[in-house]
Amino acid sequence: MTTYQGQCHCGQTQWEATLNNDQTNHVLCHCDTCKILGGGAFTLNQIIPKSALKFTKGGDSLKAYSYKGDSGKSVNCYYCPNCTTHAYHHQEVMGPDTIILRTAVLPKGRADFKPSAEIWGKAKMPWEKEVAQTFEVMPPS
Ligand SMILES: [Zn+2]
Ligand SMILES: [Zn+2]
Repeated sequence: MTTYQGQCHCGQTQWEATLNNDQTNHVLCHCDTCKILGGGAFTLNQIIPKSALKFTKGGDSLKAYSYKGDSGKSVNCYYCPNCTTHAYHHQEVMGPDTIILRTAVLPKGRADFKPSAEIWGKAKMPWEKEVAQTFEVMPPS
């Protein structure tokens, strides 16, 4: 286990994520929602137990933006109300104890995490190289 420090762009919120060194749950997502919310070509996401994430500053001030995911259930995105950095997401379809951490926001960890799968490959930009097995939408469960 390694503990990574994270903070939003303005520094108003800070957190610690204690992550398994096994990165099989590290997923690169090409979906259009990630493009719109993040402003980049994709997002990098580690699926973790909720208990692995602790806010050390400003956790109470986070705001949630919710939208309906493909499952029909809500996806709640927790972000800093000042600078809009997304710390983590919670997909209700995954149950109450599992969250999705944005690993590219971790200053020390972002380079350490390689994707184990790419999802929403059908929305991938044509110029992007494949770095892990790509699924059209989601991997079969
Ligand atoms: Zn902030
Ligand atoms: Zn996505």
